[in-house]
Amino acid sequence: MTAGLVTAAYLVSGIFFVLSLGGLSKQESARKGNLYGILGMALAIIATFVKLTLDGEAGEINFQFLVPLMIGGAIIGTVLAKRVEMTSMPELVAILHSFVGAAAVLVGLSSFLDPGHETMIGTEKLIHEIEILLGVFIGGVTFTGSVIAFGKLRGSLSGKPLLLPARHLLNLGMLGASIWLGSEFLQQGHDEAWITLLIVMTISFVLGLHLIVAIGGADMPVVVSMLNSYSGWAAAAAGFMLKNDLLIITGALVGSSGAILSYIMCKAMNRSLANVIFGGFGTSSGSSPGAGSEIEGSITETTADEVAEDLLQAKEVMIVPGYGMAVAQAQHVVKEITETLRAKEVNVRFAIHPVAGRLPGHMNVLLAEANVPYDIVFEMDEINDGLPEVDLLMVVGANDIVNPSALEDKSSPIAGMPVIEAWNAKSVVALKRSMAAGYSGVENPLYFKDNTNMLFGDAKETLSAVFSKLT
Ligand code: NDP
Repeated sequence: MTAGLVTAAYLVSGIFFVLSLGGLSKQESARKGNLYGILGMALAIIATFVKLTLDGEAGEINFQFLVPLMIGGAIIGTVLAKRVEMTSMPELVAILHSFVGAAAVLVGLSSFLDPGHETMIGTEKLIHEIEILLGVFIGGVTFTGSVIAFGKLRGSLSGKPLLLPARHLLNLGMLGASIWLGSEFLQQGHDEAWITLLIVMTISFVLGLHLIVAIGGADMPVVVSMLNSYSGWAAAAAGFMLKNDLLIITGALVGSSGAILSYIMCKAMNRSLANVIFGGFGTSSGSSPGAGSEIEGSITETTADEVAEDLLQAKEVMIVPGYGMAVAQAQHVVKEITETLRAKEVNVRFAIHPVAGRLPGHMNVLLAEANVPYDIVFEMDEINDGLPEVDLLMVVGANDIVNPSALEDKSSPIAGMPVIEAWNAKSVVALKRSMAAGYSGVENPLYFKDNTNMLFGDAKETLSAVFSKLT
């Protein structure tokens, strides 16, 4: 009876996790989504504790380990989450994925050594061993891959891709060897199979490492999302090994949502996942100019005073934030400017590109943190057509996402990437520190257009100067 209740509790947790994902897909419901996630996880933990009490003495021993480890983990997690800056979020996520990968490897190894495994026969044994193999292999790739992604994002490892000769062949060789060893593993006796499993684990470590060192640091956010998906599948494999329904459900949710997110990110950058993994794009930020034609025209510099005046004269203002706003931490002064202008009856709206910044939703989170109302924040597709009616469009530390060469220059590395068509506004002011290129390393003809003015400097400083002139 109680065992049935535990299973039911796991199912309800699974439903909470699905609701959580649904809630997190929109800003308005994100809080609720988080709450569902917390409820689901709390229920899952309680159900696990109940399950342990049902396991008798073995459960009691596990309990003694589990509680101090959970408390320790919760303390470390809370401190880290409180300390982390929004711009460092991808690296935190990367290291957390490495834990999931390591856990799947350890669960695989211990499942193999578990005395219960020895007593299995026939199809049951075969399925269990395939689960062990998959868990160890996917977990191993996720573990080392995520550690490398973490190092690259943090800057402890060079962002440059390490491109060994015949690297694709090397990867294929490692995959082929793992499949062959896997089939041997299924036929071997216990001791031999153990050695084979350790070899497969070592190959998966090397494969994860080699796959990710070959990708440029600038592409790491997409890679992190992909590793997120891997970590989900590794957790699902662990769920099968442990016969834990909730872990299977959760793993599958993480695995599929990570895969969908990677797809969305790639689509917004007009690139394929294969191009990210094997392409070596974005390998040296800001160095390679676009292959397109020479940019015509010259740049016009403006001042904070002039921008303040233009803002006050405008009826329709559109703000396009990008990675530079995150670097400068300018979201609060952006909010103050918005509030002041709205009080003066200027209609201020925000336009968010799906990959503005360095992780999906980066800008939305920063604006939400600064308490910018959700109803004036729009997606790229909602505002592009109406841009000719905008009197002043202010680009705050964004570059690639407002680059016209994505639409106009077929030879540009970002050709075909959907962008916010800022140049269609009546006038544009672009805030950045220099004429340096953005993430893709491509020059931006927007800055040379007749209706664009440049306001150079750190966005927080220039906007604070603008704000001081508004009041
Ligand atoms: P970009 O990196 O293209 O441009 C950011 C601009 O901000 C730079 O040109 C920089 O110019 C400026 N900047 C940096 N620091 C400051 C500062 N303190 N004050 C003012 N300006 C500053 O960013 P976008 O947001 O426009 O585009 C995002 C890019 O990242 C896209 O190419 C996207 O494909 C890519 N990407 C996004 C992912 C996501 O999930 N969001 C994932 C992977 C990649 P300067 O140095 O002159 O100041």
